[in-house]
Amino acid sequence: MKPAATFLGTVLAAIALNMATGAETRQGSSSGRQFDKAFVSFRIGMGQSMSESRFTELLDLFDKYPGVTDEVTLFTTYSHAVQKPELFESRVQVLAKRIAQARARGYRSGYNILCVMGHHNENLPNSIVEPEKYTQVTDIAGATSQGSLCPNDPDLVEQMRWRMQLMMDAKPDYIWLDDDIRLAGHMPVNLTCFCEHCLAKFGQATGRAWTREQIQAAADQGSLEEKLAFRRTMLQHNRDTINGLFKALTDHIRAGAPEMPLGFMTGDRFWEGYDFARWGDTLAGTAQGPVMWRPGGGYYEDSNTGGLVDKSHAIGRQVSQLADHVLSIQSEIENFPYQRLKKAQNIVALEAAQHIAAGCTGAAFNVLGQYDEPLDEFEPLVARLHRVRPFLDTMVRHLGRSAPTGVHVVWNQDLYAAVGLEGGSWFSGGVPFPDDEMFDIGIPCAYDGKASQVHVLTRGVIHTLDDREIREILSQGVYMDGPALDLLNARGFGDLTGFRTIGVDTVDRMTEFLPHPLNGPFAGRQCDNRQSFVWWMVPAHLLEKTNAGAESLARLLDYSWEPVHDCAMGVFENKLGGRVCVQGYYPWTYLQNLSRSWQLKSVMRWLSRDSLPGYVNSYHKMNLWVRQAPGGQIALALTNASFDEADGVELLLRTESGEIRVWDMDNDSTVVESAGLDGPYRTFPLPSIPPWELRLIATGATR
Ligand SMILES: [Zn+2]
Repeated sequence: MKPAATFLGTVLAAIALNMATGAETRQGSSSGRQFDKAFVSFRIGMGQSMSESRFTELLDLFDKYPGVTDEVTLFTTYSHAVQKPELFESRVQVLAKRIAQARARGYRSGYNILCVMGHHNENLPNSIVEPEKYTQVTDIAGATSQGSLCPNDPDLVEQMRWRMQLMMDAKPDYIWLDDDIRLAGHMPVNLTCFCEHCLAKFGQATGRAWTREQIQAAADQGSLEEKLAFRRTMLQHNRDTINGLFKALTDHIRAGAPEMPLGFMTGDRFWEGYDFARWGDTLAGTAQGPVMWRPGGGYYEDSNTGGLVDKSHAIGRQVSQLADHVLSIQSEIENFPYQRLKKAQNIVALEAAQHIAAGCTGAAFNVLGQYDEPLDEFEPLVARLHRVRPFLDTMVRHLGRSAPTGVHVVWNQDLYAAVGLEGGSWFSGGVPFPDDEMFDIGIPCAYDGKASQVHVLTRGVIHTLDDREIREILSQGVYMDGPALDLLNARGFGDLTGFRTIGVDTVDRMTEFLPHPLNGPFAGRQCDNRQSFVWWMVPAHLLEKTNAGAESLARLLDYSWEPVHDCAMGVFENKLGGRVCVQGYYPWTYLQNLSRSWQLKSVMRWLSRDSLPGYVNSYHKMNLWVRQAPGGQIALALTNASFDEADGVELLLRTESGEIRVWDMDNDSTVVESAGLDGPYRTFPLPSIPPWELRLIATGATR
């Protein structure tokens, strides 16, 4: 295949990138920036880097598969606590030689510092465990993690500035900071930090002194408004804590290496306040040096295939928060603890591609062995990643940093404030995110409300929205469940929702579709998700219309198949022009029989007023990420998330183009012509897609 031009390239001026050094200039918006290829690195553990002969073998392996990686990134530490200074110094000196070796072979090379704060209690005899000097992260009950140190401790900051300088002395191409820089999940404790340094800093920010007991009481007691206000203040303190650490490190780093790319790895950082845009600016410093990002999440083995797309969604959220100047966005692909049979090489290749689909511009492979032993068992994996590399490049050229567009589960940086807000404790609840199953049936997922046509509302996030934001959402397309409806009505938006709940049934309820255009040929179809199986039980909400314009789409039946209530799901168009759907029966899960799948796509399209950019119209298990250019051109990626071959896939796209180009993961492509029209959409029958493979598609048969 000839190299393909990008669809963005046809409408946007090319901006030169200095890919050789990674020192991209920062002019303009990255969403309109043209990328030549993906950013790909391998992260290398000490087992492969301490011995010169072993490291030479590693470079030989990379050389055997040219292009499999551009960067060789070296871990500074074997384990997940802050190693002792003398150990760090000696290892960095060895790694400086390895960096020179890798650069001599044409790879960019730098350090991945593990750890700055430390993750948890591991290898403590070789780590800093000096609570009298270095404060350990502390939870709300006063418990600590010995392997994790407080980012507000000036002694830790000084220690890390010294370590940054040791690494900078080797003139690396870049330095990566790892995801131990966070405030949650430092085993054996979770939410931190409430040590004396942090209490003092929080006291300064709020103008009064605090004990841990007082903080817990303020977060968990009082009115919802009082608790929310306090929690927002604490989340801001958490944002400032991470930002303060970055400021202290960056002031030192940028003084000596203003142009050196500096990278940071994250996960879904709700407790830390998800302040990625500001943190990215801080890492750039006043010198505005290049910043790289590595969005991640746990997906270490392939026995739970659903975990792959969960991670892609988490990565999509992370990328949606990044500043425009962040260009090298390498998804974390991690097979820890690196036992080859735990994750198939095809899944590793798919993972890299799918995270690019969700927003990344590259991948960082942390997939090789952790021991000082030959990499024979890993060579087939390296060969597989070599084979997929041209496809990753094609994906990044077409998708760039444009935002995925479609259906958006509403969230924001304050979402953690809603944890345990209406009962329980702030310090023991989970983030109120619904199951993402609706995106497994071919509905396009967006992570930024500004790029979406339909908003999905949950009760938790509504608590974090002000009235203006709620009204704005309700003037557009909205999908919600019963608890969200109740809260909107209680907040005074009943005239815009069209329904209220009048009861909840928790046993023996099934739903039946009523005759309605949005149910199409499926009127009379039933769905029973078996509430008696308590581990997936969801209460059924009985809805009542509050406006003559509201319409019921489904009713509830009991287990003698007798109707017990005439509305379990309904739609309403309000006076703002907004379209609302309330689903009272399993709104988030068990959406995958033919009738439910068809109905949900029908409803989503109606909610969007036919403005969804595209979706999989046929009955398949597929994840889909769509990008739209201003000129109406579309690029997208979709995964066959099934163990069955996907035959007869019908893709609907809102495009004037009569043909699309479809690339497989070997980077071969074919042109597919439209088979017809469906309203403003063109239909495209896709070639069959093997299980767990991804396809890149662009309108216009772009070359
Ligand atoms: Zn602290």
